[in-house]
Formats: sequence, structure tokens, C-alpha cells
Amino acid sequence: MSWWRRDPSSAKVDTPPDPNMPVIRLEHISKVFEANTDEETRALDDVSVDIHRGEYVAVSGPSGCGKSTFLSMIGLLDTPTSGRYWLNGRPTDRLSATERSKVRNLDVGLVFQSFNLIGDMTVYENVEYPLSIRGIPAAERRTRVDAALERVGLTARAKHRPGNLSGGQQQLVAVARAITGRPAILLADEPTGNLDSKAGEALMHMFNELHAGGATVCVVTHDPRWEQQVQRHIHLFDGRLADSPS
Ligand code: ADP
Ligand code: MG
Repeated sequence: MSWWRRDPSSAKVDTPPDPNMPVIRLEHISKVFEANTDEETRALDDVSVDIHRGEYVAVSGPSGCGKSTFLSMIGLLDTPTSGRYWLNGRPTDRLSATERSKVRNLDVGLVFQSFNLIGDMTVYENVEYPLSIRGIPAAERRTRVDAALERVGLTARAKHRPGNLSGGQQQLVAVARAITGRPAILLADEPTGNLDSKAGEALMHMFNELHAGGATVCVVTHDPRWEQQVQRHIHLFDGRLADSPS
């Protein structure tokens, strides 16, 4: 019997994954926010869903239905009130904060308004950051960062601080940062919301390429242009999964 079976309570990042599990499994996940003592919001209400490796998923639903909470859960930015989240065949509920950020940094690319750029790093350094974490050599980092900034049209802004850029430009830097790390999972919350049509199409193209390379991609969006790109729709309504109109 293997060491990890003897002591299941010590499951950590290095626990061998269950190969039969999907990359993402939400099991009866609920998330309750208590704004004050007599009022609570059930942002997610008993959501169970599997997302398989390499799937390309769009998440939609009316404002306030739990889309951002759903994505934050998957990206380990938030923890459920109840239920269990399995990532890469491992339960995530016993991970420490350090382990959660390790998993997030290595496996997940995030394009979130709430997961901002680092203000005292330059645009270049922000995009380089996930590559440094992955131990990629300096010469390759430079090639990849230069290519990413060129693709999002921000080469001239490489030495600027994010605070000096427009909201749309900051969004593009976040996309460049998420994409250059070639994450196994890419999560994006309304990524084309701030962008003009040309920048939006460039972004979609980058997402498609990452997906074609095998990544699992999950995008919260209302933008109808994603219809052509994704393979699957997840609809949320009042924190619950709504039936897909397929
Ligand atoms: P969506 O992204 O679909 O607009 P959210 O996931 O942001 O929805 O929010 C779902 C519900 O949870 C909303 O009612 C929202 O007000 C509430 N909510 C989200 N985050 C918090 C929070 N940190 N504290 C309190 N309530 C929250
Ligand atoms: Mg939202």
C-alpha cells in the first residue's frame, strides 16, 4: 500500500491525482456570502459540474447569477462554503494557502478584474512573472514576452506601469500574462468586455491557439462572438446550473 493511502488526511499538492477524474470537478458546491448578520447571498447553490481536459466552455447568465464566483472557485481564488472542488483529480479543500497559490501559478492562467496586475512592476515584468515562476531561462522568457506584447499591440508600453494604461490595455496585459505561461487551464471573466472589436478578435485568436494546444478554457462572457469558438455552454441562474438550451 502506498504512503498516501495510509494517511489520506495529509493530502497535499503532491498527492498523486486520480487519472479517472476530469480536470475540474465541482461536487455540490455552494458559496454563501454574509453581508451582515441577517442577510446572506447564496452566490452558488449546489453546483455540480465536470469539465474535461481540453474542453472549451462558455459560462453565461444574468448579472449577479454567480458567474464570477464560479470562475473564482475554479481558479482557487475563493473557497466553497460547502461541497468539494477537485482539480486535476485532487481534492482542493485540504490545500494550504501556499499550496493553492502554487497550483494556481503553475497550472492556471487568470484573466480577472479582481486578479490584477502588479502595480509596481512594469508591463514587461508582469507578463514575464509566470515564466519566472516556471523556471524558464531568461533568453526564452524575453522571446516569449516580446512576442506576447507584440501580439496585444503593447510593445511600446513594455516599460510602463499598469497604472498608466487604460482599462482595456491593462486587460490585454493580463491576457498576455495568462497566455505566455501556456497554462493547462485558462480562466477569463468577461475578457472582451473592455476591448474594441480588433483587440477582442486578437484576444479570441490567442485563446483559440492555447485551446488548440490542449488547454482547458473557461470563459465568462456575453459576447456572441464566442458562440463560434466554444464547444460547450454552462448557464447559471440564481447560483444554480440552468438547463442548457441545446
Ligand atoms: P456575476 O459574476 O454573475 O455577476 P457574482 O458571482 O459576482 O455574479 O455574484 C453573485 C452574487 O454574490 C451577487 O449577488 C453578488 O452580489 C454576491 N457576491 C459576490 N461576491 C461577494 C462578496 N465578496 N461579498 C458579498 N457578496 C458577494
Ligand atoms: Mg461577474
